[in-house]
Amino acid sequence: MAASGEPGRQWQEEVAAAAVVVVGSCMTDLVSLTSRLPKTGETIHGHKFFIGFGGKGANQCVQAARLGAKTSMVCKVGKDSFGNDYIENLKQNDISTGQNIIVIVAGANLLLNTEDLREAASAISRAKVMICQLEVTPAASLEALRIAHSSGVKTLFNPAPAIADLDPQFYTLSDVFCCNESEAEILTSLEVSSPSDAGKAALVLMERGCQVVIITLGAEGCVMMSQKEPVPKHIPTENVKAVDTTGAGDSFVGALAFYLAYYPNLSLEEMLKRSNFIAAVSVQAIGTQSSYPYKKDLPLDLF
Ligand code: ATP
Repeated sequence: MAASGEPGRQWQEEVAAAAVVVVGSCMTDLVSLTSRLPKTGETIHGHKFFIGFGGKGANQCVQAARLGAKTSMVCKVGKDSFGNDYIENLKQNDISTGQNIIVIVAGANLLLNTEDLREAASAISRAKVMICQLEVTPAASLEALRIAHSSGVKTLFNPAPAIADLDPQFYTLSDVFCCNESEAEILTSLEVSSPSDAGKAALVLMERGCQVVIITLGAEGCVMMSQKEPVPKHIPTENVKAVDTTGAGDSFVGALAFYLAYYPNLSLEEMLKRSNFIAAVSVQAIGTQSSYPYKKDLPLDLF
């Protein structure tokens, strides 16, 4: 948060310590549970309503922070109660937000621009890992990738929500390119519904220039491929009783960033096994960020 007096300076110092920097979105989820969807023009009763904290960027940042990573978030929120509550949520999760960059319209995420990114460049360039997605503008994400890449910071790009004609630079600037099945389908035009399909899609994505491709497959775990070993490898996951898989992908990405930043000597396969495990914990509880496990609740051998 901004300090009184010299906000810029405090921000620089706080974020300098962050090992995982996320450039991305904060969204407030307004959720109603109903027995069925209303028809057009119909009003029905819901039996539960709650407000949750979401947005892919913030979700990934929260998961990494709960595992013990020092994190920092580069984002924009609206100047309203949702924005204020969100900043409070990030603080509760020990996430440094640096300066408040506040605007007075909804859809603030789309107002994060390349100039803002240049202001955050020193924070990004001192991190070990930078994660970004596509819930802010592609131009903002691309700028974040450029800054990180040129400073030797490992880039973890999650092309979600996917766009079919993704700028080719997203591939060449991604050290790790991590998407789910449907995103892989949109990006490659191949059907992806099994680990072997995912292997084929991963090869197509890797040939576009990323160093490592990971495709997550829900209850099937994930498939990985790297330039060093251009053969697809399926990493299965735990067989668990899933109650709510919302945000599982973000839990996985946040966990992977944590391992890339803090356990860089682990093999990629081992990092993915552990990320699978953490995401499998998240699907066993309701909600998005509310389902993400803390380090203290996880087996010691994950750390
Ligand atoms: P979401 O959009 O809901 O955040 P996603 O579609 O991006 O999720 P998935 O591929 O469904 O991501 O899941 C990400 C990871 O979460 C998987 O690779 C796996 O590790 C874990 N996971 C998801 N669903 C399950 C499940 N039913 N059982 C165990 N692990 C799961």
